[in-house]
Amino acid sequence: MKKIYGGTALLMAAITAVSLGVTAFTGTYRDKAHEEFSIVASFYPMYTAVLNLTEGVQDVRVSCLAQPQTGCLHDYQLSPDNMITLQQADLLVLNGAGAESFLDQALDQLPGLPTVDTSTGISLLESSSHHHHETEEAQEEAEAETIYNEHIWMSPARYAAQVEKLMDQLCAADPSRAEAYRANGEKYLETIRQRQVRLETAAVSLPFESCVIFHDSLAYLAEDLQLHVEGRVAMGEESVVSAGELEEIADAIRGKRTLFLYDNQYPVAYTYLTGYAAGSYTAVLDAAVTPAEGTADKDRWVQAMDYNLSLLEQAGAGSGPSGEP
Ligand SMILES: [Zn+2]
Repeated sequence: MKKIYGGTALLMAAITAVSLGVTAFTGTYRDKAHEEFSIVASFYPMYTAVLNLTEGVQDVRVSCLAQPQTGCLHDYQLSPDNMITLQQADLLVLNGAGAESFLDQALDQLPGLPTVDTSTGISLLESSSHHHHETEEAQEEAEAETIYNEHIWMSPARYAAQVEKLMDQLCAADPSRAEAYRANGEKYLETIRQRQVRLETAAVSLPFESCVIFHDSLAYLAEDLQLHVEGRVAMGEESVVSAGELEEIADAIRGKRTLFLYDNQYPVAYTYLTGYAAGSYTAVLDAAVTPAEGTADKDRWVQAMDYNLSLLEQAGAGSGPSGEP
């Protein structure tokens, strides 16, 4: 049943009476074609993607399981509210690649919930984080399984593959609106591929022999840019970055032109490292994991990627805030 807004009390009473009559007559029958389709995205980047595919499509409700301000899901814990949201969903959209490990138990309890894992079929990098476990047993177990880098949406080519997977599965799950989803999807894919081309162009003019990344979100971009990653600092995923780790990185970049890539979710900078490089450029990039003021949620990935591209193009032109490369 649709909610009815703005009627007078009398009119509402009359409608209620009629509705009750109809209900009595038709029993529990609900007209499937006019029912709302509820899509739940696991976190903000998936929410952004779903909003693009569903733009202007009637009777579709989109919600974001983790509050949009959450950012990366590394420490996320399922709330009781989340469980209710999942129970009411017609389709759950996941980033995959381990991002939603907090959902493992919940999904066991909801075996009937259609779910899209947008990472399926995408080549993944390994995560640089190595969590420390209390017992030796747990430590060995953790070392036996590969932890993948979940930040695939940061690579335009991989993000396009995610959106394509989402489009196909959404059309299959809700075929009555498939035509509209597909039209939106093709338009959005075109927009993403334009950024992919721009990134490939930027990659050609980057004069760096090495790269240091300060969160795993930068790893896929670095790969797309064909940069040699000499150092990875798992900021935000481990509480302490050891002095030994930083020393290793300093040694690895000594005398090399180096690009330093930070994620603006974690505002700590190891600026002294630039002193070891033979010229450097520091870029603080936007992983599009939270909303930005003045940008519609739907446009957030494109806005962030355009910002990142403008910095990388500046780095290529050699006119950066931290001096010439
Ligand atoms: Zn992250």
